[in-house]
Amino acid sequence: MTDTPLLQVENLRAQFGRRDPLVAVDGISYDLRAGETLGIVGESGAGKSVSVRSLVGLIDDGEVTGSVEWRGEELVGAPTRELRAVRGSGIAMVFQNAEAAFDPIEPVGAQIVEAIRASRDLPKGAARAEAVDLLEEVGIGDPAGRFGDYPHEYSGGMAQRAGIAMALAGEPDLLIADEPTTGLDVSVQAGIVDLFRDLVAERDMSLLLISHNLGVVSQLCERIMVMYAGRIVERGSREQLLGSPRHPYTGAFLRSVPDVDVRQELEPIEGAPPSLDDPPAGCRFHPRCPAAEAGLCDVDAPPTVGFDDGDDPERHEATCHGYTDAHPGGDAFDREAVEWIEPAEDPERGER
Ligand code: SF4
Repeated sequence: MTDTPLLQVENLRAQFGRRDPLVAVDGISYDLRAGETLGIVGESGAGKSVSVRSLVGLIDDGEVTGSVEWRGEELVGAPTRELRAVRGSGIAMVFQNAEAAFDPIEPVGAQIVEAIRASRDLPKGAARAEAVDLLEEVGIGDPAGRFGDYPHEYSGGMAQRAGIAMALAGEPDLLIADEPTTGLDVSVQAGIVDLFRDLVAERDMSLLLISHNLGVVSQLCERIMVMYAGRIVERGSREQLLGSPRHPYTGAFLRSVPDVDVRQELEPIEGAPPSLDDPPAGCRFHPRCPAAEAGLCDVDAPPTVGFDDGDDPERHEATCHGYTDAHPGGDAFDREAVEWIEPAEDPERGER
């Protein structure tokens, strides 16, 4: 892994509708270095999928603002042709419903050949041989025999593997996987997790993984960001997030998954996430937070707080009032670990 950022995301915002817009992603920033694995976790409706689709121009009916730099090249507002070129080679995506990535009336192998030839100038025979190799690499048994099968002839797990082969056709540097194991049987999920782990190691790719399943994310990602109601509420290394979660929402996540393991599905936390067209003022988690302080958490935007986690060099931060003197604190907040406190970015909005 090098320190060169492949992807730099600054204040990314995605909204739908002009009057009373629904802001699905509200000003998130992060970067991703070559060879790094980053996970975004959160409940359904947190804005995770929209956040990654916004990166590569896959939002048709919404407005995306902010900055997304891929190898230094701005993608927000880039022409469709440029975005297609990046999607064809640099960045590839795998979705939850892999079968939908394929045309139902064309054999799987032929579609992978097309994807290879769309990104590289290869003769048909060489592209066919490479497609068979890709099917083998993702664990399709008898790849030459399955090459001519149609998408509906693949089982759910096999279709997901074939979808990953399709994503690899352009030899991407970054693979974005959006809920890639959701809806699959438990044993099939475990196989897909193993496959991602092998691919990232062998191909030296970066991985950006979106999931509501903390178990899957924690098995594959070195860094994790927790998203709630369109915003990142905590970020840090896997060890920091799992070992010493600092945001009450992250804590609730972990308590709902007692043994972090691929077999555990994230259970809903009491209450429901807010509607993004009318989110709560102050901290968006306050209606569900057991530590919410009336007159503070429901009014003012929380600050971002950084923590000292010993030898771990990763930046660990959470956005919460609980570490400030304005909040009564309590057992949930280890104020001894606080390194710095940054005021809310936009206090006039009363939220962040
Ligand atoms: Fe809970 Fe307040 Fe922290 Fe939000 S800011 S997570 S409501 S303590």
